[in-house]
Amino acid sequence: MTQSLEQQVREELTLYARKIVAKGLVVGPGGNISAKAGDLMLLSPSGFALEDIEPHQWIRVEIGSGKVLDTEFRPSSEVLMHLYAYRENPDIQAIVHTHPAYCIALTLVSRELPMLFPDQAALVGEVTFVPYVLPTTDLLADAVAAKVGQYNSILLENHGLVTTGKNLREAYYRTEVVEESAKIYLAAKAAGTPKVLTDAEYKEIQSLESEAYRVQLLQKLQ
Ligand SMILES: [Zn+2]
Repeated sequence: MTQSLEQQVREELTLYARKIVAKGLVVGPGGNISAKAGDLMLLSPSGFALEDIEPHQWIRVEIGSGKVLDTEFRPSSEVLMHLYAYRENPDIQAIVHTHPAYCIALTLVSRELPMLFPDQAALVGEVTFVPYVLPTTDLLADAVAAKVGQYNSILLENHGLVTTGKNLREAYYRTEVVEESAKIYLAAKAAGTPKVLTDAEYKEIQSLESEAYRVQLLQKLQ
């Protein structure tokens, strides 16, 4: 691995960490994000607000062994959740874990997030749900790892959201789109009975060539 790849990942993490806070997807020192650089993952340090992390402060952890290579700060307390997810699905290059208000509100009243609009169908697909377990434990890490092979977006009951992607941009956009979906669904439910997309309508969106192009572009861009 070249130094420049790691440096690039550090800068991207810093950029998206600030976006996450600016968009209100976490408050205070909540949430944690990571991205792969070769055999390592670079993970947010514990106790920092995401927006305060400088490029050199992302913590290097060996994905295979779980060994933490930096000792100045502790890695995020959700280090196991990130490690297990990367080990389970080698296609994952980045993980965004946030505490978005509408996602959390949704998990308090519903275990599902139906397909509501085209961007959700094209960029996210089906969202899954993990019942409440104590954060920071291997119970949560195991529960998330069991889902990351099949789903890129996982609602955590009474807790928040995990999204994965082929790069940070994709994982981040998925967080934004799932939060927007939760917001729309809750608003619609409060007003009446939501009309959701049918399976056929969902599949039709996924088969659009223009959407495939957009998703491909999203995965390529850094
Ligand atoms: Zn959390």
